[in-house]
Amino acid sequence: MGRTYWCHTCHVPLMGDACLSCGSKAKDICSAAIVPVFTPEIQYLKKRVDPSLYPLLKEGEIWLSPGNCTYYCQGVPVLKLVAGNGKATPLTDPEQVKPLNRSKKTWLRTLQKANKGYMEHLQYEAEDFIRSTIASFKGRTAMVSFSGGKDSTVVSHLVMGALGRSDVLHIFGDTSIEFPDTYGYLEEFQRRHPLTPFIRSKSKLDFFKTAEQIGPPSRILRWCCTTHKTNPLSSLIDSMSPEKGVLTFDGVRKSESTRRSDYPRISKKHKIAREVLARPIIEWSDLAVWLYILTHQIAFNRAYKFGFRRVGCLYCPFNSDWSQNMIKYRYPAKGRKWHRFLVGQAERMNHPNPENFADQGWRTRAGGRGLDHYKTILEATPCALSDSAVMYQLVNGDVHLVNHFLRPMGPQSMVSQDDFSEIFLIHDPKSNEILASVEVGFEDHAVRINYLLKKWRRLFQQRIEKQLKKLQACIFCGACAAACKAKALEADGCFVVDPDKCRSCLSCVKHRCPVIKSLNYKGMN
Ligand code: SF4
Ligand code: SF4
Repeated sequence: MGRTYWCHTCHVPLMGDACLSCGSKAKDICSAAIVPVFTPEIQYLKKRVDPSLYPLLKEGEIWLSPGNCTYYCQGVPVLKLVAGNGKATPLTDPEQVKPLNRSKKTWLRTLQKANKGYMEHLQYEAEDFIRSTIASFKGRTAMVSFSGGKDSTVVSHLVMGALGRSDVLHIFGDTSIEFPDTYGYLEEFQRRHPLTPFIRSKSKLDFFKTAEQIGPPSRILRWCCTTHKTNPLSSLIDSMSPEKGVLTFDGVRKSESTRRSDYPRISKKHKIAREVLARPIIEWSDLAVWLYILTHQIAFNRAYKFGFRRVGCLYCPFNSDWSQNMIKYRYPAKGRKWHRFLVGQAERMNHPNPENFADQGWRTRAGGRGLDHYKTILEATPCALSDSAVMYQLVNGDVHLVNHFLRPMGPQSMVSQDDFSEIFLIHDPKSNEILASVEVGFEDHAVRINYLLKKWRRLFQQRIEKQLKKLQACIFCGACAAACKAKALEADGCFVVDPDKCRSCLSCVKHRCPVIKSLNYKGMN
């Protein structure tokens, strides 16, 4: 899937061990795929190495193996980036490699010819997959998940090509912290594809305010993907109300990460209940993606020209050190804003070394120490009046929502007054057998639960307490709603369960709340 070969006659990388242009046997130069390097990145490199090496570093002639940070010129390794300091070290005497002085047009034509058969095979297979998947999920609305990155750019092109039309719905999950180049590219894409319906989904939550409330995202506490990508997308899919849900083509590839190497090509079970995901280029290498883009001359996100290997969020905790450096170089104001925010956040969290936290520490934050973790604690006190009853004092959240958070346990009947309500959780609607009665004080925020069914008490008490903890911490991120196949739950800016639609399937209860996860820390309740 990933090896790179080089034709020393045509001076282009190949996806197989023979050049399909001149017929020569190719040299196996790298165990991983290589990617093209563009002029802006070359200019960046020029500042960091001996400028005398510069004549070799020419767009079209220089490629990079991102895995081992080695730059290749004419199939020969010429520079290696040092991971720690981001500096580049020359590997080859510049005299050994002579510039080819060929035009971009000639280079592209050679590249295309030399890989034609390999690329055609991949393209036809992917297009067949797209058509057959649409046929097997008939009734679902087919769409492209468009991130503005190279992979979804290729998938968009393949889907429109396979279907022979450009009016295929494209959805962009806008986290609000995308690279500025991504926003620019999206505008360009829409200009170039006026017939393509294009919808943005965006969270109602402000990223910085959320990060202030629950801590910045980290590699362990990656709440932002849930709150700012998946949930708004799920709400959008629900609001579109397609009868049988949607079939989304995305650009996920196995070679992107170890985790993704296990992903199936079609996924019916994932975070968004009403979505089936299909991945036409799941087996493609980086080189295949770039060859497709370059040889079809597809416009792509400019961020790649500046050396970004992946295009995503500015403040992603998974960004490599190289990406972090490039963000400071390409988007200096954004880099400074995030650094200032992290220093302020570290001070609020009483971190012993705020600068250290802002440089590296935030990315490995493992718990909510210094944050409002009290919201995740729910203390149960035995009731003096009855052995079967338990008292809870809610420390945060809207007590008027208790009935909504407990609706997944089963149907309810409720009596309410100005300062008090009593909710009966019905276990068996046929016999009207009552599971528990829940008394809620609107003034004192006290909740008294009388567990009437002894047999189920332990299990239901656990579930009820889980829901009350969620109520205390809820920022209405929408994740619970995304888990609901019945479209019974609205949790984007509010938390409302429609009692007529809720099937008590408990999917929303089982869903882990990213806010609780981010505020919690080891050793807490
Ligand atoms: S309780 Fe649900 S909707 Fe509220 S913050 Fe947690 S996951 Fe989001
Ligand atoms: S996921 Fe939806 S249907 Fe299932 S219990 Fe929750 S609200 Fe009810």
